[in-house]
Amino acid sequence: MREILPGVFLLPVPIPYPLKTVNLYLLKGKGEVALVDTALATRTAQGSLELYLAELGLCFQDVKTVLLTHHHPDHYGLAGFFEGLGARVYLHAEELGRGHRFWLTPEAFEEASWRLFLDHGTPEEALLGIRETMAKTRERVHPPKEPLALEDGAVLEVAGRRLRAIWTPGHADGHVAFYLEEEGVLLAGDALLDHVSPNVGLWAYTRENPLKDFLNSLRRLAELPVRVAHAGHFGPIGNVKGRAQELLAHHQERLQALLTHLEGPKTAWELSLLLFPQNLDAAGRRFAFAETLAHLEYLRAEGTVGREGPPYRYFRV
Ligand SMILES: [Zn+2]
Ligand SMILES: [Zn+2]
Repeated sequence: MREILPGVFLLPVPIPYPLKTVNLYLLKGKGEVALVDTALATRTAQGSLELYLAELGLCFQDVKTVLLTHHHPDHYGLAGFFEGLGARVYLHAEELGRGHRFWLTPEAFEEASWRLFLDHGTPEEALLGIRETMAKTRERVHPPKEPLALEDGAVLEVAGRRLRAIWTPGHADGHVAFYLEEEGVLLAGDALLDHVSPNVGLWAYTRENPLKDFLNSLRRLAELPVRVAHAGHFGPIGNVKGRAQELLAHHQERLQALLTHLEGPKTAWELSLLLFPQNLDAAGRRFAFAETLAHLEYLRAEGTVGREGPPYRYFRV
């Protein structure tokens, strides 16, 4: 645990994913306690969070406000637990009918989710593994029942701090970064990460062009007068503009790489194996597929590639 500003604490909580930990931020002041993100609902994460709270002389019930950067399990998993203890949970409006609904009402996107994989060339056997990992993840997510909708630009006054919600879609449709304007500090969630490129995936419940959203979000973040960004994983980012530009360049390279693989028509699944040839487990292949599909649909919207099917095969125009 580290105090990054007076009364603002970074809590790194372990998660059973390749990123190893998720960074939560706890705000304490004026007799209030707020938490930015909640970690995954595993015993280990919950126990780790309880110890951090105890170090600060707090318990779970003291958290009266939960601000979620987005609906991904490692950030949102315990939101329902805190809501059950009486906390108000905030989530961007765009997440409510999409990512949030995906967890809250599993049947809502069930059919569409599997059809998306099959329509884009995923073999049945690979899909079986993907379904298993998804079922496991669902056990570790406690969705809030009635989250409060955040809008872009909304200013929240909590625990003695003013935070502005900056809508930064792409990594998730309703992703928000929380900007402490007076301090020049951005709680960036997964919109910007040090040394890894945040996953940008197209899923059955997402907006139609997540990569376009993400590139626009990076351009927006690059313009903010931020002194330092504290992200959802890894260390702080001192040069926000520089990091945003690196990520913009990274996606341009990935789009180019896709085009070079498209000398003949291919499915998104086939292309994901070419773009991410490393040995990945079922969860990793699922992300590789969604990332590839987001890039293909970006190119299709730009008019650079077309597709025929289903099963859909993409080709250069
Ligand atoms: Zn995420
Ligand atoms: Zn994350």
